[in-house]
Amino acid sequence: MLVEVAVAAAVRGTFTYRVPSRLAGEVSLGSRVAVPFGKSPRATGYVVGLPTVPPKGIELRDVAGVLDEFPPFTQPMLRLIRWAEEYYLAPPGELMRAALPPGLNARGGASGPTRRGVEFAAPASGAAEALVTLDARAHARRAVLEYLLARGRIPVEELRTAFPRGRPALTALVKAGLATLETVSVAAGGGSLLPAAEHPFPLTADQSAALSRITGAAGAFHTFLLHGVTGSGKTEVYLQAIALARAAGKGALVLVPEIALTPQLAGRFRARFGDQVALLHSGLSDRERHAEWLRLRRGEARICVGVRSAVFAPVQDLGIVVVDEEHDPSFKQDDGPGYHARDLAVVRAREEGAVCVLGSATPSLETLENARTGKYELVVLPRRIDDRPLPEVRIVDLSRIRKGAPLPGLLSPALREALVATVRAGRQAILFLNRRGFQTLVLCRDCGREERCGNCSVSLTLHARRGVLLCHYCGHSERMSPRCPACGGERAGVGAGTEQVEAAVREVVPEARVARMDRDALTGAADVAELLARFARREVDVLVGTQMVTKGHDFPGVTLVGVVLADTALALPDFRAAERTFQLLTQVAGRAGRGDEPGQVIVQTFHPHSPAVAFAVGHDYAGFAEVELDRRRSLGYPPFGRMMAVRVEGSEAGARRTAEALGDAARPALSAGVSMLGPAPAAIERIRGKSRWHLLFRATDPAALRRVHRALGPAALRPPGGASVRFDVDPHAML
Ligand code: ADP
Ligand code: ZN
Repeated sequence: MLVEVAVAAAVRGTFTYRVPSRLAGEVSLGSRVAVPFGKSPRATGYVVGLPTVPPKGIELRDVAGVLDEFPPFTQPMLRLIRWAEEYYLAPPGELMRAALPPGLNARGGASGPTRRGVEFAAPASGAAEALVTLDARAHARRAVLEYLLARGRIPVEELRTAFPRGRPALTALVKAGLATLETVSVAAGGGSLLPAAEHPFPLTADQSAALSRITGAAGAFHTFLLHGVTGSGKTEVYLQAIALARAAGKGALVLVPEIALTPQLAGRFRARFGDQVALLHSGLSDRERHAEWLRLRRGEARICVGVRSAVFAPVQDLGIVVVDEEHDPSFKQDDGPGYHARDLAVVRAREEGAVCVLGSATPSLETLENARTGKYELVVLPRRIDDRPLPEVRIVDLSRIRKGAPLPGLLSPALREALVATVRAGRQAILFLNRRGFQTLVLCRDCGREERCGNCSVSLTLHARRGVLLCHYCGHSERMSPRCPACGGERAGVGAGTEQVEAAVREVVPEARVARMDRDALTGAADVAELLARFARREVDVLVGTQMVTKGHDFPGVTLVGVVLADTALALPDFRAAERTFQLLTQVAGRAGRGDEPGQVIVQTFHPHSPAVAFAVGHDYAGFAEVELDRRRSLGYPPFGRMMAVRVEGSEAGARRTAEALGDAARPALSAGVSMLGPAPAAIERIRGKSRWHLLFRATDPAALRRVHRALGPAALRPPGGASVRFDVDPHAML
C-alpha cells in the first residue's frame, strides 16, 4: 500500500511513502502519520492521496506510525485544502497543520469532559449591594460579578469567553452566595434554554423573507449575501436558519471576527442550542480547544462558532455556513498560509453541498460584486428592528476651524458641546479614534529632530501615562525626556491618540466617568469584558477607544458617537483605504441610538467630501459602492482584477538583491494581462531591523498570476542574499 503525504513543513508538493503491513488497516485518506523526512525520523504528515503506482526511480521509505484513532480530515476537508493550496500557493502541509488544533498530540488525546446540559450563572439577590463591599483586591471576583450584574442569567460559556480564567472567581462568588449556578438539560430539538430573552423572536417581515429564501436553498450549495443595516436582526436570522438546519439533522459553522470583543454572541448561541455548540477561539487553552475540536469531530457537538481558523473545524454533515461581519479584515490571515477565511468558507460550503450566508452591514466590495453578477444571491434587511431610525450624522470640517484655535485632544466645539449635553442628560457616549497613545510623533522645536525607532522606519508614539516613547511595530520603548537628546531643545508632540482624547474628555466634562478601550489600557479578554460590563451597567459615561469600540456592541444607553478623526484610515497606502474608512464609520455610527432615545453621530474630518466620509454620513452604502467600484474598475483593482504580493525580508543588501532577482525572473512572464509594480521598498521599509521589499502583481485572471508564480519559483526557492520570500494572494495589508 502506498500513500501520498503532505509533510507539515514549508515545502511545496507531496511525497510518496510505503505503508508497512502492520499499519495497513489504520491508514486512510486524511490520516495524520509520522514519516521519516530529511533528518527527522518522525516528521508529522497528512495522507492526501492513495497512489497505486510508485513514482519511478525513487527508493520509497516507510510510514513510521499513525497518530490518531481516526483520520482528522474528512474528504471534503481534503478537497478544501487542495483548493487552498492551489489558490493561495501555500505549502499543503502548512495549511493542514494550521487546520488542526494545536493540542492535537499523541494518539487518543484529551477526551475532554462529557457534557450533560448547559450551565447557567446568575447574580444572586443582593449581589449589587455586595459589590460595593467586595475587597478591592478581589479583582477577578469583582470583574465577574460586574459582568453578571450587567448581563443577568447567562450561559457559563459566555462568561468563559469573556473571562478565560474566570472559573475560580465564579466558584468563589457562588460560595459567598453572590452568584448562583444551575445546570439545564438540553431541550430536545434545539429549543431555547433561556426563559425570555433568548426565545426565538417572532421575526419581522424582512427577517422572515430572508429566512425563507435561505432555508429554501437548503440541501445544496448556494451562497447568500445578507446585507442588513446595523441592528437589523441579522443574528436572529442566522440562529433560526441554523435551527432549521439542525432540525434536518445537519451541522452548522459560524465564523465571527473576534469572539472576545463580543462574548454575548457566544452566549446567544449557547442559550439557543445548548451543548450542541462548540466554541473555538484564542481564549481557550490548547487542551480546551482540542476537546472542543474532538466533540465536533465525533459529532457530539454539531454547531461550531469560531474565529478565522475555525473555517477548518470538523463540523460533521455540514448544512449551513455563516460568516458574520464578512467584511472584517481579521478573516484574512496575515502570516503563514495567507488564506481568507470568508473565501474559504464559501469553498467549504461548495465542497460540502451546504448553504453559505455572508452577513454584513457594509459588505466588502468583492462580495457585493459577486452578488451583482449573480454568483451570490442578495438578501436585504433594510430597516432596524422596531423601525428605529439610523442616527443622524453631522460633519465637523476641521480644516475650516479657525487656524490657531487649539483643539485639545482634537475635540471641536460642536463635539465638546454634544459630549457635555449627553453626560449631563445621564446618557452615554463613544469616542472613536484609530490611533493609540498620546501623540503619534514627537519633534524638537529647535532642531526639528523627530524621534524614530532604531529597528523600524516609523516614528515613536508618546505614551504619556507611562512616560515612554513606544514603537507600535516592534515594541521598542524608551523613556520620554522633555528635552531633545540631540540639542537639548524643547520637544513637542503632534497627532492625537486615544490617550490624549481621554485626557481632553476629562478636561471638558470633569464630572464624566471616562474609560479607554485600546490595547494599551486593556491587556486581555477579561479586561475587555469587565470594561464592557461596566459600560453596560452605566458605570462609565464616555468610552474612548480604537476600532475595538466599533464592533457589534449593543448598548441602549449610547446616544452620542464621536469620530475624533475620520481620516486616519484614509491615509493608509492601501487601495482599500476608502472602503475600510467607510466600514469603520458606518459600524461605529451603528453603535448610537440602539435604545429608545435617538442617536447622533459627529464625524470630525479634514476631508468631508471624500466619498468614504460623505456617503457614510448619508448611510448610503449603495452610493459609496457605486463610486468606489467605478474607481476600482478603472484602475483594475479587485474585485475587477486579481492581485498577488511577493514580500521579501532580509538584510538591507540581501532583501534588495532578492527583490531585484525576483523582478528579473518575473519580467518574461508579464503580458498585457499581468502587470508588475516594483520591486520597491515597502511603505514601512524596515521592521524589527529587517529590510522589507515587495513586488505587486495585478492581473485580469488568476491563471496569469499562477504563471508569474511559476516563473518566480527558482528565485523564490533559493533567494540570493538569504532573504525570505512570501507569496500573498489577494493581499490586504499594503504596508
Ligand atoms: P444585527 O446582527 O443585524 O446587528 P441583531 O441580530 O443583534 O442585529 O439584533 C439587534 C437587536 O434586535 C438585538 O437586541 C436583538 O435581540 C433584537 N432583535 C432581533 N430580531 C428581533 C425581532 N424579530 N423582534 C424583536 N427584537 C429583535
Ligand atoms: Zn520598532
